[in-house]
Amino acid sequence: MFAAGGGVTGPFGGTEAFGVAAAAEPVLDLSRHWHEECGVFGVWGCDNAAQLTYYALYALQHRGQESAGIATVDGTEMFHHRGLGLVAEVFAPEDLNRLAGTGGVGHVRYSTTGANKLANAQPMVLFDVYGGPLALAHNGNLVNAMLLRRELEERGSIFQSTSDTEVVAHLIARHRGGSLTDAIVDSLRRVQGAYAFVFLTPGRLVEARDPQGLRPMALGRFGDGWVVASETCAFDTIGAEFVRDIQPGELLVIDGAGVRDMRFARAARKALCTFEYIYFARPDSDIDGRNVHVVRKAMGKRLAKEAPVEADVVIGVPDSSISAAVGYAEATGIPYEMGLIKNKYIGRTFIQPSQVLRERGVRLKLNPVRKVVEGRRVVMVDDSIVRGTTSRRIVQMLRDAGAVEVHVRISSPPVRFPCYYGIDTSAREELLAARLSVEEMTEAIGADSLAFLSEAGMLEALGAGPEAAGPGAPAGRHEFCNACFHGEYPTRLYDDLGKGMMEMAGHRGGGS
Ligand code: SF4
Repeated sequence: MFAAGGGVTGPFGGTEAFGVAAAAEPVLDLSRHWHEECGVFGVWGCDNAAQLTYYALYALQHRGQESAGIATVDGTEMFHHRGLGLVAEVFAPEDLNRLAGTGGVGHVRYSTTGANKLANAQPMVLFDVYGGPLALAHNGNLVNAMLLRRELEERGSIFQSTSDTEVVAHLIARHRGGSLTDAIVDSLRRVQGAYAFVFLTPGRLVEARDPQGLRPMALGRFGDGWVVASETCAFDTIGAEFVRDIQPGELLVIDGAGVRDMRFARAARKALCTFEYIYFARPDSDIDGRNVHVVRKAMGKRLAKEAPVEADVVIGVPDSSISAAVGYAEATGIPYEMGLIKNKYIGRTFIQPSQVLRERGVRLKLNPVRKVVEGRRVVMVDDSIVRGTTSRRIVQMLRDAGAVEVHVRISSPPVRFPCYYGIDTSAREELLAARLSVEEMTEAIGADSLAFLSEAGMLEALGAGPEAAGPGAPAGRHEFCNACFHGEYPTRLYDDLGKGMMEMAGHRGGGS
């Protein structure tokens, strides 16, 4: 455990570590095509809140590897430390020792809005808000952030970062009258999009989930204290007990008197991001009552029913597609094997191989197991195809390793629309499925055959039916966002500059 470069006082006070990511080139990511958003964690009423938060952030590291931070309170004072890089790179033992107190908030970040720079690392800490410090951490993306930012700047707000999270910080700081909780509620009612926020003050922890429930958030118990986290795997890691999922539009205030909840907003429909199940979340996490591994396996089984093929072996692209590959193998009776091995020890900061080395086949992240695929007809299960570059490389790798046929099976429908809710997908014109038919895509990635899970099949695997949307919901309604498959977004959308209240041209904003 180390913090390269040591710590300095940052723009919001506290200390900031310059992890090696600060100076590194962008990394070559051969194996994956989606980037996780962020992970948040909060704790209240527990000894050594910083240590607990640190271990919880380790469990959430898959949700963001560009920066990490922790803020704590000891009843009167706030302490914080954040930096660029992995949790292990950002925190040294002495950093954690400085973070005193029994309340804390932690964050790991992948930058979807705002560049990867230190000012955008979270938690953000503001001093003198309603008479004291306030730390805030956010997972998701606010679709009207630019519009609000412009308004705030016209009224004199000076922004220190390019992160959309700071918009909420300014809205709270400018709020007049009422309590801090009133300021948080009023500010959240002005923002639209995907969010799970955790706010920390010397007197309380406040958590809020967006009205559509696009981003997950759960409440847990740790001894006599309370914890909240983006994923339940963080609870398992620190030995906390899961209590319940936090509901869309729900705000929790946690302090010495316990937990109080209120609904600050209601949306016409719930719209949890399906990709939390397909790719982002850890398989050992449960989201809104469903285990991620179980859902992925069910998707693989359903895919086998929809798109069977004669083959000798089923392999999954690690890590997120393994569960679906096991489901596909179980349903078809074709043996499952570990046909691709991922190097787990490459952080986001390794030095990229040159083009020459790349052409010579330097494969740092993913390597096929020749003995598994040589001379065999292979079913390669993956979770999604975005630009198609990764799929083409993996298919070629398998052929180079001796596979005689490569049949690609995707455990989600074709991604044809971009995401505006914090998931860093490509622009529409870069999405392979937005431009090509399945036959053309098969050729583009060099596979012998290609098939996707249908949307109906995906919903069946999720156990979602019209009833999941609530009584009286129209047929076909359910509790998930699937906008990247069909372009029906669960909130209004705004253009990149936040001009007016325009809906994005070419996409259908659903309104909330
Ligand atoms: S558009 Fe796709 S990736 Fe984005 S929140 Fe909706 S389902 Fe998730």
